[in-house]
Amino acid sequence: MRQKTKLIHGGITGDEKTGAVSVPIYQVSTYKQQGVGEHSGYEYSRTGNPTRFALEELIKDLEGGYAGFAFGSGMAAITAVLMTFKQGDHIVFTDDVYGGTYRLVSQVITRFGLEASFVDTSDIANVEAALQDNTQAIFAETPTNPLLKITDLAKVSALAKQHDLTFIVDNTFATPYWQNPIEQGADIVLHSATKYLGGHSDVVAGLVVVNSQKWAEDVHFVLNSSGGILGPHDSWLLMRGIKTLGVRMEEIESNTKAFVEFLADLPEVEKIYYPGLESHKGHDVHNKQASGYAGMVSFDIGSGEKAGKLLSHTRYFTLAESLGAVESLISVPAKMTHASIPADRRRELGISDGLVRVSIGLEDIEDLKEDFLQALRQ
Ligand SMILES: *Cc1c(COP(=O)(O)O)cnc(C)c1O
Repeated sequence: MRQKTKLIHGGITGDEKTGAVSVPIYQVSTYKQQGVGEHSGYEYSRTGNPTRFALEELIKDLEGGYAGFAFGSGMAAITAVLMTFKQGDHIVFTDDVYGGTYRLVSQVITRFGLEASFVDTSDIANVEAALQDNTQAIFAETPTNPLLKITDLAKVSALAKQHDLTFIVDNTFATPYWQNPIEQGADIVLHSATKYLGGHSDVVAGLVVVNSQKWAEDVHFVLNSSGGILGPHDSWLLMRGIKTLGVRMEEIESNTKAFVEFLADLPEVEKIYYPGLESHKGHDVHNKQASGYAGMVSFDIGSGEKAGKLLSHTRYFTLAESLGAVESLISVPAKMTHASIPADRRRELGISDGLVRVSIGLEDIEDLKEDFLQALRQ
C-alpha cells in the first residue's frame, strides 16, 4: 500500500459490526468482564481503548513500525519515552530541539538524574564526540525548529547501532507522509500530532511509534503507569485529520515553494531557512531521507522591532504559536516558541530577534503573498 492509500486504509478502518466506515468513538472507561480476569482485550481505558487503538494502529502503519501509542500531547509522548530510561543514563539531544523538549529535559527530567547533552546533530562528529560511557540514546529532530537544520538519519542510526544506543527521532516537522525515520534505522519515532497530523488547530495530541516488541512493552508500561493517554474523542478527531494528510501536504508543498521564491526576491528579507533551497546546508541530506520539505520557513528581517511590526499587520497569516495547520501561521521564535530558552543560549543557536517563522497553510498563495507584502511595507 502506498502512503496516500495507507492514510485511508491503514490501521483499523470502520466498524465490522455495523459497517460504519468511520471508527466509532468508544466513550467508555471500563469494560464488562465475562469472568474474573476474562475479557475481550479491553479492561480499562487508560490501559487500552478501541478508538485510541485504531489511531495507534494507523500511525504504526504510517511510520512502518511495530506498535504505536497515543498520548494527550506531544510533550506527554516525549516525557513517556524519556521515562523508559533510568537515573544515571545519558542522552544526546539535537541542540535546537523544540523549546518545550529543551525545557522538559533541562528543568524536569534532569532533576530525576537523567543526564543530557545538547549538540548540533547535523554534524555527525558532534554526536560522536558527545558520547559517554553512560550514553543510552540519541534524540534528534530533523528538520529542526526554527532553523530547519537537517540531521543525517542513516548516519546517526549507524552510529547508534555501533554503540548499542537507542535512536529516537521527533518527526513532527517532516510528517510520516514525507519521512519515515524507522526505515532509516531509528528505534522510536515521536510526533506532536497537534501539528500536521491533526492539521486543523483543533486537537492537542502526541504519538509514539516503536520498532520492536521490547520498546512496545516499555512504552506501554510507562503509558499505563503514568497515564498521559489521549481520550477517545481526540483520538477520533486525529484519525479524521490524518485521512487528509496527503492532500494537505501536497498542497502545502506547492504553496511553500512558491512562497519561498517570493521571499527570495524581497530586499527586506535577509536570510531564508528552508531545506528545499539548494543553498540550504542540509538540502542533499534531506533529499536522501525525505520526499518533501513541508511548510515551515524561517527568515531574518533584521530586528525584533521590524518583526513585531510585520506580525501585527498580517491578515491571513495568523499570529500564533504552533504550526502545520490549514491556516497559515506566523511567529517570532525568540519571543514565542523559544522564549523558554535563555537569551544567550538563543544567540548561540542563531535564533535572532528578527527571525520570523511561518507555517504555510492552504490559503490561495496569491492572497498569502499580497497579505505578507502589505504587512511588510506598512
Ligand atoms: C509542538 C511540538 C512538540 C510538543 O508537542 P505538543 O503537542 O505541543 O505537546 C514537540 N516537538 C515538536 C517538533 C513540536 O513542534
